[in-house]
Amino acid sequence: MSHTLLIIEDNLQNSYMMRFLLEKHGFEVRTAENGPDGIRSAVEYRPDAILLDIQLPGMDGYAVAGRLKADQLTNCIPIIAVTSYAMAGDREKILSAGATGYIEKPINPETFVNEIRQYLSWDCKEEE
Ligand code: MN
Repeated sequence: MSHTLLIIEDNLQNSYMMRFLLEKHGFEVRTAENGPDGIRSAVEYRPDAILLDIQLPGMDGYAVAGRLKADQLTNCIPIIAVTSYAMAGDREKILSAGATGYIEKPINPETFVNEIRQYLSWDCKEEE
């Protein structure tokens, strides 16, 4: 059975690249371009993991992570924040907002899929 991934990212170039790499490795991928659509998709689709951009128009990644963690339907889905170098100081903030981990933007195509795989075995219970 293939793993399912939800990408919440407003930059279509980034989104396309991540989707391409994941699909090449057999993942089933859905994308959303903003927080509210991403949350709806997470509830409906129940992906194995969520890749979450922090800088989103309107509702930002912190707010999205908080909402996903507050909902029993989505609170055990690992959230991987996608952070840019310029936001290094905000990583603690995104982890406290509920992200399981983060990867740096620009993504490295050589290591990206393996980085994502690490989060698929994340045990939700350990965090409680
Ligand atoms: Mn963005």
